[in-house]
Amino acid sequence: SDDQKRARYDKFGEEGVDQDGMGPGNAEDIFDMVFGGGRGRSSGPRKGEDITHVLEVPLSQFYNGATRKLAINRVVIDHSSPITTCNACDGQGVTVKTVRMGPMVQQMQSTCPQCHGQGKTFKTKKSKEIIEIHIEKGMKSGQKIPFRGMADESSPDVEPGDLIIILKQKENDDSGFTRKGNDLFVRKPITLVEALTGYTTVITHLDGRKLIVRSKPGDIIKPIDLTSEKHYLKCVKGEGMPTHGNPFLCGNMFLILDIVFPESLTPDACEILKEILPPPSEAPIITDEMEETYEHHELVDMDPRESAAATAEYDHSGEAYDEDDEGGAMPGGRRVQCAQQ
Ligand SMILES: [Zn+2]
Repeated sequence: SDDQKRARYDKFGEEGVDQDGMGPGNAEDIFDMVFGGGRGRSSGPRKGEDITHVLEVPLSQFYNGATRKLAINRVVIDHSSPITTCNACDGQGVTVKTVRMGPMVQQMQSTCPQCHGQGKTFKTKKSKEIIEIHIEKGMKSGQKIPFRGMADESSPDVEPGDLIIILKQKENDDSGFTRKGNDLFVRKPITLVEALTGYTTVITHLDGRKLIVRSKPGDIIKPIDLTSEKHYLKCVKGEGMPTHGNPFLCGNMFLILDIVFPESLTPDACEILKEILPPPSEAPIITDEMEETYEHHELVDMDPRESAAATAEYDHSGEAYDEDDEGGAMPGGRRVQCAQQ
């Protein structure tokens, strides 16, 4: 429920003291934050449960490294109050009652109501603590940073569990980069002229550096392999993500180039292009006889999804079809005539 989410949020609060001054965003985002798997598995009775917290990290902080401060509200043993052995159960945590039922004597064991089974009396208090999370260059989404013993202290005899921070790359990053391993991908529209004659762009990197990126003189940007994602890819070597633990070794940056074709060309421009571009290698030669005897069709634009929806209607149009009607009836009253040429 929202109350539970709110309670979880009350436990963690990002301090407004980040390196980049990023605040915690609007309230809705915070309450919708994904809180990992919740409480982890206990590793034995003498150690408390681990607790996890998901920290959203923008790609720029994985690139540059960052220190994030997180305020946590946790329960700790109040050492200003004495910790004493429970006098009700003598430290056993259980009380034993002897119940006599006629000739039988039965012993009933139950959890000590005074110390709730702890065997000790002690006080706990709420404590607000600030932890510093060091995001190192090249760390990845999903990476875990443990803080030993930073979960709640439930008893003086139980070692508190760990607080485990799980780094999660922020979605909808406005940097424009997508990360795959240590490689970065950025999408750029380019015109057909640039694809053919040369391309220059300025890219602002994740650390703010400005890169002028140019295609090699004479290099034509063309698809490498249409069956894979590799088409219209060019690479800027060594400008990908730093390697975690070896930040001077970087991946590559790929430019995914979307070629924007001209909407139209004048007949004059078409003639000039035909003169300067290499001729088509496999264009058929159409003879007058072929023109007269072959069927003629013209290419049009069509969305295959619209086509599928429209042709699905044909399957149910059999009964509605009236053979006496010239041209034939279509569902919905549309009339179609076959073009005569
Ligand atoms: Zn007790």
